[in-house]
Amino acid sequence: MTIRLFNTLTNSIEELKPADGEALGIYACGPTVYDYGHIGNFRTFLHVDVLRRTLELFGTKVRHVMNITDVDDKIIRNAAAANLPISEYTPRFEKAFFEDLNALSVAHPSKVARATEHINEMVTLIMRLAEQDIAYKTEDGSWYFRIAKFPGYGKLSKKDFSGIADGARVDVDEYDKDSARDFALWKAPKPGEYRWETELGPGRPGWHIECSAMAMEYLGESFDLHAGGEDLMFPHHENEIAQSESATHKSFARHWFHVRFLLVEGRKMSKSEGNFYTLRDLLLKGYKASAIRFLLTSVPYRQQLNFTFEGLAAETGAVERLRTFYQRLKNTKWPEDGSNASVVDAAAVARQKFHAALANDLNTAEARAAIFDLVRTVNAAADAGSLFKGDVTAVLDVLADFDKIFVALEDNDSKWTRFALEWAEREGCLDKASPEVLAQLSLSDAQIDVLIEERNQARRTRNFARADAIRKELLEKGIILEDSKDGVRWKRK
Ligand code: AMP
Ligand code: ZN
Repeated sequence: MTIRLFNTLTNSIEELKPADGEALGIYACGPTVYDYGHIGNFRTFLHVDVLRRTLELFGTKVRHVMNITDVDDKIIRNAAAANLPISEYTPRFEKAFFEDLNALSVAHPSKVARATEHINEMVTLIMRLAEQDIAYKTEDGSWYFRIAKFPGYGKLSKKDFSGIADGARVDVDEYDKDSARDFALWKAPKPGEYRWETELGPGRPGWHIECSAMAMEYLGESFDLHAGGEDLMFPHHENEIAQSESATHKSFARHWFHVRFLLVEGRKMSKSEGNFYTLRDLLLKGYKASAIRFLLTSVPYRQQLNFTFEGLAAETGAVERLRTFYQRLKNTKWPEDGSNASVVDAAAVARQKFHAALANDLNTAEARAAIFDLVRTVNAAADAGSLFKGDVTAVLDVLADFDKIFVALEDNDSKWTRFALEWAEREGCLDKASPEVLAQLSLSDAQIDVLIEERNQARRTRNFARADAIRKELLEKGIILEDSKDGVRWKRK
């Protein structure tokens, strides 16, 4: 199956296929590692993950390259404030970023490329531009890109820059969304700032040249798809195109994939508005990693997602329903002497709709709906006593496909909550944790097992008062016990 996907560059929906017929090259702009990732960032990384997983489900090999921006204005500023060299400041945030991706079940890129490890490639690219007089050096020793020399400037963001003043410059990494200026390729160092000594002179790279150089290094001068959040379309991606195509005279990325921003409670997320959340903030409030993934992928990537706590609670319930269904299918001994044609049909329809929704510009909302329809039909058949082993196998097969994209069935949630707690304890920010989550700190899995065994013993000797007291003590610490035929099971609240 082939995906049809919206391409920002051509403003149309197109089939996405690897140009070399073998592996589809994706370059996704990675994080700037100066702080912990927030849920807006993760919405973008999760939709790139959905794209990659869908391609793989449909049988296309993917080469997924992601950069780490480990030098830029903000990093230099924050590292100086923390009194650390940047090489000691960024690794903890890079590590935290990959831990967060793991918690959200985002597949690791095939190649992670750090900016500071590709300075030579960037210098070579700037030299190629300098040879054509497209890069020029200013009195302070910085190098700029002359946008008047690139007639295609604005073709991605569809901005008209025909009347721009030649030579107007901007030297910061982030700048005004509507003005076109010659932008910095290489920045001369300010006094005391870290610098690389290169044939361009001392200094450090600008943000945009980083992605051009690393994308071409790992995917070639022309490649299949470039991804990022919608804010990167201009100036970052526009500048990447200008630099790369001016140097190579070839088209850079064929397909551009942009994820719309996430809002929180209807507003732009910001620290000053008090609606800014990192993944760790949510885990410490007791929300499950799986539900966060489920919510952040629920709305298709070209629509805005409005994050609310009600929405997150609903997704928690949805994940729970799916898991209960999955366990029911796996753990019941279904009769083998028959088949329910309507279940087998429903499974085939759900699979077809699920694949078709993903193939149609990654419509995650419809893909999920197809599976929830199946859950309802199959539960009804099971309740009516007309579900058979062969039918269940067909349904489990569809669920397996579903899980390759949404990754919700296996329960690792308490592991990640515990991980966040241990991190908060080390960082001295346990005040972020809700009382129920905090209660988990005091009990390890082994300690819980000991208490459960003690409760079993109390029940065997008919000491029900003691058994109840243990159940109550565990509940206060956020542990729920479930008595069943096969013994006692527990889960964290
Ligand atoms: P940064 O670390 O700021 O460079 O951002 C990493 C990625 O997250 C980029 O692809 C951004 O476009 C994306 N991003 C930032 N804020 C949001 C948001 N509120 N919603 C969705 N994506 C975002
Ligand atoms: Zn980039």
